[in-house]
Amino acid sequence: MSFSNLSYVQPTSESPWGTYLGQIDRVVPYLGRLARWTDTLRRPKRSLIVDVPIEMDDGRIAHYEGFRVQHSLTRGPGKGGVRYHPDVTLEEVMALAAWMSIKNAAVNLPFGGAKGGIRVDPKALSLKELEKLTRRYTSEIGIIIGPQQDIPAPDVNTNAQIMAWMMDTYSMNVGATATGVVTGKPLHLGGSLGRVKATGRGVFVTGREAARRLGLDLQGARVAVQGFGNVGSSAAELFHQAGSKIVAAQDHTGTIFNAHGFDLAELMPHVRSTGGVAGFKGADKIANDDFWNVETDILIPAALEGQIDVARARKLKTKLVLEGANGPTHTAADDILAERGILVVPDVICNAGGVTVSYFEWVQDFSSFFWTEDEINVRLDKIMVGALKNIWDAADRHKITLRTATFAVACERILAAREERGLYP
Ligand code: NAD
Repeated sequence: MSFSNLSYVQPTSESPWGTYLGQIDRVVPYLGRLARWTDTLRRPKRSLIVDVPIEMDDGRIAHYEGFRVQHSLTRGPGKGGVRYHPDVTLEEVMALAAWMSIKNAAVNLPFGGAKGGIRVDPKALSLKELEKLTRRYTSEIGIIIGPQQDIPAPDVNTNAQIMAWMMDTYSMNVGATATGVVTGKPLHLGGSLGRVKATGRGVFVTGREAARRLGLDLQGARVAVQGFGNVGSSAAELFHQAGSKIVAAQDHTGTIFNAHGFDLAELMPHVRSTGGVAGFKGADKIANDDFWNVETDILIPAALEGQIDVARARKLKTKLVLEGANGPTHTAADDILAERGILVVPDVICNAGGVTVSYFEWVQDFSSFFWTEDEINVRLDKIMVGALKNIWDAADRHKITLRTATFAVACERILAAREERGLYP
């Protein structure tokens, strides 16, 4: 495998782009005659790096690095979130954009894959500074986004308010209200019911189906969740409602444990009011590293990439890993989990619920006709169950992991479309 496929990034086997390249290498044997197009997937179609200068509240001028990467536009407009985090790099955004191409194709949504980000600690900004940052970034990437070009959405540290500012800025620049330019918007601005919790719901639906196939009863199942933000907390709530016990949770504030399961009706308001799980009275505080030693039936990484490395994969005591986060498992660790018989539902299908309801939002915005939350949830459930079944059949047919099977299904769709469109000129 060549990790230096592009001059402008230096990936390693454990970095996000290197992990993605390794995943592509593994799928090539299953692509048949389409394999000759594989290099298309090894390079993003378009990567935009922008300077985002803003005047801070104290009068200083601060500059931030912003990115928008469109990995593939073969099957439709780009689609993928925007992340605000101090560790954001071009290489990370490239990998996240590529995983969006795979995810959108795996669920058969009519989108390519894209992702954006700003290298910033948003928690250190005032609300006004955050708004200026968002508006300037939107203007800078405005040359490549649009309802038919590329449609951003929330990701780590971005939310409905940030999407509202993005939508307003883009609309001001084009001179018309363009609700379809972003998804994950507030309900008043063309947002969709069910969007906020959709990713967590998708994690639950794929987890429920995987547990059924494993013969694992959700009633009483022990669940640990890393990342108690949008995805982690929504998934935790649904498992809790299904009778599972959430025994451990970790976020940037610390790690908590209760062998009997947390009372979520108390934990959720605690997280909302304090900003994290630390200090929750209904649980014991444990060392962050001990999170990976907790005995569970289901583990949900729902924070950042690269959390399950080889050492952690060797010691995990669980039966099922549901990848709520994007790219949480190193490739070598993935192999160890497979050897140890721990089933992994990979990110590229497990967390596809968010983009699926984003697709519903985009469709509703175009038709200016909005669905009920029940309609959204029923349609989401049906799409996720169907997509997972298709992937599971491919895994059984080729005797490969669910991850490689998801890549096989998705890459075949992308490359078949690539071949049918042909190369321009
Ligand atoms: P969020 O900002 O709402 O929550 C992130 C959580 O991760 C927080 O609880 C934070 O405390 C925790 N965290 C941050 N750094 C950590 C660390 N070093 N150790 C432990 N915990 C840490 O973000 P989110 O939207 O829930 O996204 C979480 C993951 O899910 C990301 O990988 C994201 O790409 C992925 N994802 C999100 C969506 C979506 O719709 N929001 C869709 C698909 C995938």
